[in-house]
Amino acid sequence: VIMSFLMISMMFIMIPRAAVSAKRISEVLAVDPSITDPEKPEALEASAGSVEFRGVSFRYEGAEEDALCDVSFSMSPGETVALVGPTGAGKSTLANLIPRFYDASGGSVLVGGKDVRALSLAELRSRIGFCHQKAALFSGSIADNIRYGNQNADEAGIEAAASTAQALDFISELEGGFESRVAEGGSNLSGGQRQRIAIARALARNPDLYVFDDSFSALDGRTDARLRAALKKRTKSASVLVVSQKIETVKHADRIVVLDDGRIAGSGTHEELLLLCPLYKQLAESQNAAEVRS
Ligand code: ADP
Repeated sequence: VIMSFLMISMMFIMIPRAAVSAKRISEVLAVDPSITDPEKPEALEASAGSVEFRGVSFRYEGAEEDALCDVSFSMSPGETVALVGPTGAGKSTLANLIPRFYDASGGSVLVGGKDVRALSLAELRSRIGFCHQKAALFSGSIADNIRYGNQNADEAGIEAAASTAQALDFISELEGGFESRVAEGGSNLSGGQRQRIAIARALARNPDLYVFDDSFSALDGRTDARLRAALKKRTKSASVLVVSQKIETVKHADRIVVLDDGRIAGSGTHEELLLLCPLYKQLAESQNAAEVRS
Protein backbone atom coordinates (compact mmCIF):
# COMPACT_ATOMS: atom_id res chain seq x y z
CA VAL A 1 0.00 0.00 0.00
CA ILE A 2 2.83 2.36 0.89
CA MET A 3 4.53 1.67 -2.40
CA SER A 4 1.43 2.25 -4.44
CA PHE A 5 0.80 5.45 -2.58
CA LEU A 6 4.31 6.60 -3.28
CA MET A 7 4.06 5.61 -6.91
CA ILE A 8 0.89 7.56 -7.29
CA SER A 9 2.39 10.56 -5.52
CA MET A 10 5.40 10.25 -7.76
CA MET A 11 3.29 10.02 -10.87
CA PHE A 12 1.41 13.04 -9.78
CA ILE A 13 4.41 15.15 -9.01
CA MET A 14 5.82 14.46 -12.41
CA ILE A 15 2.70 15.41 -14.31
CA PRO A 16 3.53 18.67 -16.03
CA ARG A 17 1.85 21.76 -14.68
CA ALA A 18 -0.31 22.47 -17.68
CA ALA A 19 -1.78 18.99 -17.79
CA VAL A 20 -3.00 19.04 -14.23
CA SER A 21 -6.57 20.10 -13.83
CA ALA A 22 -8.17 20.44 -10.44
CA LYS A 23 -10.38 17.46 -11.19
CA ARG A 24 -7.42 15.28 -12.05
CA ILE A 25 -5.72 16.24 -8.80
CA SER A 26 -8.63 15.15 -6.67
CA GLU A 27 -8.89 11.90 -8.65
CA VAL A 28 -5.22 11.11 -8.21
CA LEU A 29 -5.29 12.06 -4.58
CA ALA A 30 -8.29 9.93 -3.81
CA VAL A 31 -5.79 7.55 -2.17
CA ASP A 32 -5.71 9.93 0.77
CA PRO A 33 -9.03 11.71 0.72
CA SER A 34 -8.07 14.04 3.56
CA ILE A 35 -5.48 15.76 1.39
CA THR A 36 -7.46 18.13 -0.78
CA ASP A 37 -7.19 21.58 -2.25
CA PRO A 38 -8.33 24.42 -0.03
CA GLU A 39 -11.49 26.18 -1.16
CA LYS A 40 -9.67 29.43 -1.90
CA PRO A 41 -6.01 28.61 -2.51
CA GLU A 42 -3.50 31.33 -1.78
CA ALA A 43 -0.96 32.20 -4.46
CA LEU A 44 2.69 31.40 -3.96
CA GLU A 45 5.17 34.24 -4.31
CA ALA A 46 7.73 34.26 -7.09
CA SER A 47 10.02 31.92 -5.17
CA ALA A 48 8.85 28.92 -3.21
CA GLY A 49 12.36 28.19 -2.01
CA SER A 50 11.84 28.73 1.71
CA VAL A 51 10.59 25.97 3.97
CA GLU A 52 9.59 26.21 7.59
CA PHE A 53 8.46 23.52 10.02
CA ARG A 54 6.68 25.01 13.04
CA GLY A 55 6.28 22.56 15.88
CA VAL A 56 5.37 19.74 13.52
CA SER A 57 4.18 16.40 14.83
CA PHE A 58 3.07 13.49 12.72
CA ARG A 59 1.60 10.10 13.51
CA TYR A 60 0.80 7.43 10.91
CA GLU A 61 -2.72 6.13 11.05
CA GLY A 62 -2.94 3.29 13.54
CA ALA A 63 0.59 3.89 14.88
CA GLU A 64 1.12 4.12 18.62
CA GLU A 65 3.86 6.69 18.52
CA ASP A 66 4.57 9.91 16.69
CA ALA A 67 6.96 9.55 13.76
CA LEU A 68 7.73 13.26 14.19
CA CYS A 69 7.48 15.15 17.45
CA ASP A 70 7.55 18.95 17.72
CA VAL A 71 9.94 19.47 14.82
CA SER A 72 10.91 23.07 14.05
CA PHE A 73 13.48 24.20 11.52
CA SER A 74 13.63 26.39 8.47
CA MET A 75 15.56 26.78 5.27
CA SER A 76 16.01 29.90 3.15
CA PRO A 77 15.94 30.18 -0.64
CA GLY A 78 19.29 29.10 -2.05
CA GLU A 79 20.27 27.14 1.05
CA THR A 80 21.30 23.49 1.05
CA VAL A 81 20.13 21.73 4.16
CA ALA A 82 20.85 18.09 4.86
CA LEU A 83 18.77 15.85 7.05
CA VAL A 84 20.61 12.96 8.63
CA GLY A 85 19.79 10.34 11.23
CA PRO A 86 19.48 6.60 11.78
CA THR A 87 16.91 4.44 10.00
CA GLY A 88 13.43 5.10 11.31
CA ALA A 89 14.34 8.56 12.65
CA GLY A 90 11.57 10.17 10.57
CA LYS A 91 13.59 11.66 7.71
CA SER A 92 11.35 10.41 4.88
CA THR A 93 8.25 11.30 6.83
CA LEU A 94 9.51 14.86 7.21
CA ALA A 95 10.36 15.08 3.49
CA ASN A 96 6.92 13.76 2.54
CA LEU A 97 5.16 16.53 4.44
CA ILE A 98 6.65 19.23 2.20
CA PRO A 99 4.71 18.38 -1.01
CA ARG A 100 1.76 17.28 1.18
CA PHE A 101 1.96 13.56 0.52
CA TYR A 102 0.79 13.60 4.14
CA ASP A 103 -0.51 16.37 6.36
CA ALA A 104 1.04 17.19 9.73
CA SER A 105 -0.96 15.95 12.73
CA GLY A 106 0.12 19.04 14.71
CA GLY A 107 1.93 22.28 13.90
CA SER A 108 2.38 23.58 10.39
CA VAL A 109 4.59 23.29 7.33
CA LEU A 110 5.20 26.45 5.32
CA VAL A 111 6.57 26.70 1.80
CA GLY A 112 7.32 30.15 0.38
CA GLY A 113 5.97 31.55 3.64
CA LYS A 114 2.52 29.95 3.17
CA ASP A 115 0.99 27.05 5.04
CA VAL A 116 1.04 24.19 2.51
CA ARG A 117 -2.61 23.47 3.31
CA ALA A 118 -3.52 26.95 2.05
CA LEU A 119 -1.95 26.37 -1.37
CA SER A 120 -3.28 24.59 -4.41
CA LEU A 121 -1.68 21.15 -4.54
CA ALA A 122 -0.84 21.57 -8.21
CA GLU A 123 0.94 24.85 -7.61
CA LEU A 124 2.79 23.60 -4.53
CA ARG A 125 4.00 20.46 -6.25
CA SER A 126 4.91 22.18 -9.50
CA ARG A 127 7.49 24.19 -7.53
CA ILE A 128 9.12 21.16 -5.94
CA GLY A 129 11.49 18.68 -7.54
CA PHE A 130 10.92 15.65 -5.32
CA CYS A 131 13.19 12.70 -5.87
CA HIS A 132 12.48 9.37 -4.18
CA GLN A 133 15.12 6.82 -3.35
CA LYS A 134 13.40 4.27 -5.55
CA ALA A 135 13.05 5.98 -8.89
CA ALA A 136 9.80 5.15 -10.67
CA LEU A 137 11.08 4.73 -14.22
CA PHE A 138 8.78 3.61 -16.99
CA SER A 139 9.26 1.83 -20.27
CA GLY A 140 10.35 4.38 -22.86
CA SER A 141 13.53 6.16 -23.88
CA ILE A 142 15.94 7.71 -21.39
CA ALA A 143 14.97 11.13 -22.80
CA ASP A 144 11.26 10.36 -22.20
CA ASN A 145 12.01 9.37 -18.64
CA ILE A 146 13.87 12.62 -17.97
CA ARG A 147 11.31 14.72 -19.84
CA TYR A 148 8.63 13.34 -17.55
CA GLY A 149 9.83 15.98 -15.08
CA ASN A 150 8.97 18.74 -17.52
CA GLN A 151 7.20 18.06 -20.81
CA ASN A 152 8.39 21.42 -22.12
CA ALA A 153 12.07 20.58 -21.70
CA ASP A 154 13.96 20.69 -24.98
CA GLU A 155 16.92 18.54 -25.95
CA ALA A 156 19.45 20.98 -24.49
CA GLY A 157 17.50 21.12 -21.23
CA ILE A 158 17.42 17.35 -20.96
CA GLU A 159 21.10 17.06 -21.70
CA ALA A 160 21.97 19.75 -19.15
CA ALA A 161 19.88 17.97 -16.51
CA ALA A 162 21.60 14.65 -17.31
CA SER A 163 24.97 16.32 -17.17
CA THR A 164 24.37 17.79 -13.71
CA ALA A 165 23.00 14.43 -12.56
CA GLN A 166 26.29 12.79 -13.69
CA ALA A 167 24.32 10.60 -16.08
CA LEU A 168 25.91 11.83 -19.29
CA ASP A 169 28.86 9.42 -19.20
CA PHE A 170 26.84 6.25 -19.00
CA ILE A 171 24.15 7.50 -21.39
CA SER A 172 26.69 8.35 -24.08
CA GLU A 173 28.21 4.90 -23.73
CA LEU A 174 24.88 3.30 -24.62
CA GLU A 175 24.42 2.58 -28.30
CA GLY A 176 21.20 4.57 -28.55
CA GLY A 177 22.31 7.43 -26.28
CA PHE A 178 19.31 9.34 -24.98
CA GLU A 179 17.03 7.23 -27.18
CA SER A 180 18.10 3.96 -25.48
CA ARG A 181 15.18 2.01 -24.07
CA VAL A 182 14.51 1.87 -20.40
CA ALA A 183 12.60 -1.25 -19.36
CA GLU A 184 9.58 -0.92 -17.06
CA GLY A 185 10.83 0.03 -13.60
CA GLY A 186 14.30 0.60 -15.05
CA SER A 187 15.12 -3.08 -14.62
CA ASN A 188 17.81 -2.98 -17.34
CA LEU A 189 19.73 -0.28 -15.46
CA SER A 190 21.80 -0.37 -12.29
CA GLY A 191 20.48 1.23 -9.08
CA GLY A 192 22.93 4.11 -9.47
CA GLN A 193 21.90 4.70 -13.09
CA ARG A 194 18.23 4.71 -12.13
CA GLN A 195 18.91 7.22 -9.38
CA ARG A 196 20.79 9.51 -11.75
CA ILE A 197 17.93 9.48 -14.25
CA ALA A 198 15.49 10.29 -11.47
CA ILE A 199 17.73 13.16 -10.35
CA ALA A 200 17.92 14.44 -13.94
CA ARG A 201 14.14 14.26 -14.05
CA ALA A 202 13.83 16.47 -10.99
CA LEU A 203 16.42 18.87 -12.41
CA ALA A 204 14.57 19.16 -15.73
CA ARG A 205 11.73 20.77 -13.81
CA ASN A 206 13.86 23.72 -12.67
CA PRO A 207 11.92 23.97 -9.43
CA ASP A 208 12.45 26.45 -6.59
CA LEU A 209 12.98 23.67 -4.12
CA TYR A 210 14.54 20.22 -4.43
CA VAL A 211 13.90 17.38 -2.04
CA PHE A 212 16.26 14.47 -2.51
CA ASP A 213 14.97 11.67 -0.31
CA ASP A 214 17.90 9.30 -0.02
CA SER A 215 18.42 9.77 -3.74
CA PHE A 216 22.20 9.35 -3.75
CA SER A 217 22.38 6.10 -1.81
CA ALA A 218 23.35 3.90 -4.77
CA LEU A 219 26.06 6.24 -6.04
CA ASP A 220 29.74 5.61 -5.41
CA GLY A 221 31.65 8.22 -3.40
CA ARG A 222 33.21 9.93 -6.40
CA THR A 223 29.96 10.26 -8.34
CA ASP A 224 28.20 11.46 -5.21
CA ALA A 225 30.84 14.20 -4.72
CA ARG A 226 30.74 15.28 -8.36
CA LEU A 227 26.97 15.37 -8.32
CA ARG A 228 26.87 17.55 -5.23
CA ALA A 229 29.35 20.01 -6.75
CA ALA A 230 27.41 20.19 -10.04
CA LEU A 231 24.12 20.58 -8.18
CA LYS A 232 25.47 23.46 -6.16
CA LYS A 233 26.58 25.24 -9.31
CA ARG A 234 23.30 24.71 -11.09
CA THR A 235 20.85 25.30 -8.27
CA LYS A 236 22.25 28.58 -6.96
CA SER A 237 18.89 30.22 -6.35
CA ALA A 238 16.95 27.05 -5.50
CA SER A 239 16.97 25.49 -2.07
CA VAL A 240 17.91 21.88 -1.63
CA LEU A 241 16.95 19.42 1.08
CA VAL A 242 19.13 16.34 1.00
CA VAL A 243 17.98 13.37 3.08
CA SER A 244 20.64 10.78 3.73
CA GLN A 245 22.07 8.37 6.23
CA LYS A 246 25.58 8.96 4.97
CA ILE A 247 27.73 11.59 6.68
CA GLU A 248 29.84 11.81 3.53
CA THR A 249 26.78 12.99 1.59
CA VAL A 250 25.62 15.54 4.14
CA LYS A 251 28.84 16.96 5.55
CA HIS A 252 29.24 19.75 2.96
CA ALA A 253 25.70 21.10 3.30
CA ASP A 254 25.26 24.70 4.48
CA ARG A 255 23.49 23.27 7.49
CA ILE A 256 22.81 19.78 8.76
CA VAL A 257 19.78 18.84 10.82
CA VAL A 258 20.08 15.65 12.86
CA LEU A 259 16.90 13.70 13.45
CA ASP A 260 16.60 11.00 16.09
CA ASP A 261 13.43 9.15 16.95
CA GLY A 262 11.23 11.87 15.43
CA ARG A 263 12.97 14.73 17.21
CA ILE A 264 15.66 17.17 16.21
CA ALA A 265 18.83 16.14 18.01
CA GLY A 266 21.08 18.87 16.66
CA SER A 267 21.61 21.36 13.88
CA GLY A 268 24.72 23.07 12.54
CA THR A 269 27.67 22.53 10.26
CA HIS A 270 29.62 19.28 10.14
CA GLU A 271 32.33 20.67 12.41
CA GLU A 272 29.85 22.12 14.88
CA LEU A 273 27.90 18.88 15.10
CA LEU A 274 31.01 16.78 15.62
CA LEU A 275 31.65 18.87 18.71
CA LEU A 276 28.12 19.38 19.96
CA CYS A 277 25.93 16.48 18.85
CA PRO A 278 26.86 13.08 20.31
CA LEU A 279 24.60 11.19 17.87
CA TYR A 280 26.17 12.90 14.86
CA LYS A 281 29.65 12.17 16.19
CA GLN A 282 28.67 8.57 16.71
CA LEU A 283 27.26 8.24 13.18
CA ALA A 284 30.41 9.81 11.73
CA GLU A 285 32.71 7.56 13.73
CA SER A 286 30.85 4.35 12.94
CA GLN A 287 30.75 5.17 9.23
CA ASN A 288 34.45 6.02 9.25
CA ALA A 289 35.22 2.74 10.94
CA ALA A 290 33.09 0.84 8.42
CA GLU A 291 34.97 2.52 5.60
CA VAL A 292 38.34 1.64 7.03
CA ARG A 293 37.24 -2.00 7.41
CA SER A 294 35.98 -2.30 3.82
P1 ADP B 1 13.69 7.33 8.04
O1 ADP B 1 13.40 7.95 6.73
O2 ADP B 1 14.50 8.23 8.94
O3 ADP B 1 14.30 5.98 7.95
P2 ADP B 1 10.80 7.11 8.29
O4 ADP B 1 10.30 8.50 8.13
O5 ADP B 1 10.71 6.22 7.11
O6 ADP B 1 12.30 7.16 8.85
O7 ADP B 1 10.04 6.40 9.47
C1 ADP B 1 9.79 7.02 10.74
C2 ADP B 1 8.92 6.10 11.58
O8 ADP B 1 7.63 5.98 11.01
C3 ADP B 1 9.46 4.68 11.69
O9 ADP B 1 9.17 4.21 12.98
C4 ADP B 1 8.67 3.91 10.66
O10 ADP B 1 8.54 2.57 11.02
C5 ADP B 1 7.33 4.63 10.68
N1 ADP B 1 6.68 4.62 9.36
C6 ADP B 1 7.20 5.04 8.19
N2 ADP B 1 6.29 4.94 7.19
C7 ADP B 1 5.16 4.45 7.74
C8 ADP B 1 3.85 4.14 7.25
N3 ADP B 1 3.53 4.34 5.97
N4 ADP B 1 2.95 3.65 8.13
C9 ADP B 1 3.25 3.48 9.43
N5 ADP B 1 4.46 3.76 9.96
C10 ADP B 1 5.40 4.23 9.15
